Amino acid sequence: QNDVKHVVPDIDGTAEQQEAMTSLFHQFNVTTASARTIVKQFMEEMGKGLDHEGATLPMIPSFVTGRPTGSEKGKYLALDLGGTNLRVCEFELKGDGEFSVHQQKYVVAQELKTGEMRHLCDFIADCVDNFITEYGTHHISEKIQLGFTFSFPVNQTDINRGTLMHWTKGFNCNNAINKDVVIMLQDSFLRKNISVNIAALVNDTVGTLMANAYSHPQTSMGIILGTGTNAAYYEKLSNITKWRGGDQVFEEMVVNMEWGAFDLERRVLPMTMYDNKVDRESINPRQQLFEKLISGMYLGEVVRNAVIHLIDQLILFNGESSTGLNEQWGFETAYMSTIVVDETPELEKIRHILEDTLQVPSTTFGDRQLVKSICIAVGRRAARLSACGVAAVLAHTGELEAGANVAIDGSVYEFFPKFQTYLTETLDELFGQEVAQGIKFTLARDGSGFGAAMIAMMAHKAALAKAE
Ligand code: BGC
Ligand code: MG
Repeated sequence: QNDVKHVVPDIDGTAEQQEAMTSLFHQFNVTTASARTIVKQFMEEMGKGLDHEGATLPMIPSFVTGRPTGSEKGKYLALDLGGTNLRVCEFELKGDGEFSVHQQKYVVAQELKTGEMRHLCDFIADCVDNFITEYGTHHISEKIQLGFTFSFPVNQTDINRGTLMHWTKGFNCNNAINKDVVIMLQDSFLRKNISVNIAALVNDTVGTLMANAYSHPQTSMGIILGTGTNAAYYEKLSNITKWRGGDQVFEEMVVNMEWGAFDLERRVLPMTMYDNKVDRESINPRQQLFEKLISGMYLGEVVRNAVIHLIDQLILFNGESSTGLNEQWGFETAYMSTIVVDETPELEKIRHILEDTLQVPSTTFGDRQLVKSICIAVGRRAARLSACGVAAVLAHTGELEAGANVAIDGSVYEFFPKFQTYLTETLDELFGQEVAQGIKFTLARDGSGFGAAMIAMMAHKAALAKAE
């Protein structure tokens, strides 16, 4: 099982290229044995995170307790920050399981991602204002309720309260760590006289889970495999031993795992020299290691490092690189999907990316095959590692035998060829075919916005009920 020989392609290049390929496939492989070790470690870290603060896996209680019924009704705004764009959406839940939406995307400039938090909040508030004015259908007198999807590790202290633990995914604003992100954004709304109330603060994994549960109530886990990676799942409150929320009438709560933080201690993750370089040169070295092996922000950079290393050994491109390829982040993760699906006889699409886009002087057929193989190896590893996370959660909740419904969103899952096949293969190696087939993955595209709107609605209704 999982014999690398079956997946290492033959390269019509030089003997050095074939040798390099075989070596890379081994370095990027996650053997079944190592997958088992990772799952075991994952489950241990989950237990610690549920038990106390400060563990490697934060396992954050989300304050989301119910399951949606489909009968939810009303108009709610959602705001989504933390992926490629900022999105503002207005959802109208019709109460019969149906809903309508319109949305707008806004580009967050690089300076805003690493500048003052105040400026970022002001920018977000302006986007919301623009959205309401241009596209909104609320009455001018209404106070608009908003669900804020903020996809970073937040220590949640209430359904609409939480302090930022640290930044991820290349964001690095000043004056934000340990501050309440809702209060900061609400402040910007107030100063600009924008009549919006932030009713809920939601992680994108939690939103994705809830959105999918609206139409598939048995959904028990939500995963993001996009710019970053993370997962959330329904946990029994009695298992969240660190919970100090007092007497509770509910039995379960969604937990935001922040699984990108897994293996901070570097015990079990198969980090290569290419990964170590990505990590060292990142904005958050030594953090989010699992995320750096899996998510879209980093995969292209891992490939680039491997390619550059082969160029330096004169194994690729006759030893010639290009300005574009030499630049950090110069090789976009999106290229990987295009490269991997290229089946043209001369690998024309790969040639186009390498020679036209990246301006590599010239490539041979063997060069292009080798680059394609590296992309496959890196993507496959991401899928196999994600499978370890899924395996750990389902083994923990005891859902393996009965089957489970998992909602996934994100560009890596959606666009990397055969991602889901590699994922299921790994689960098969770990638990056998029957169990693996019982785990159903649903693509919940852009679900987090809808989920946030629904959570805002639930929170708003609960607040009204309490006030009465
Ligand atoms: C963040 C998570 C988020 C994930 C996916 C990670 O970098 O820490 O909060 O859910 O990215 O967007
Ligand atoms: Mg997203």
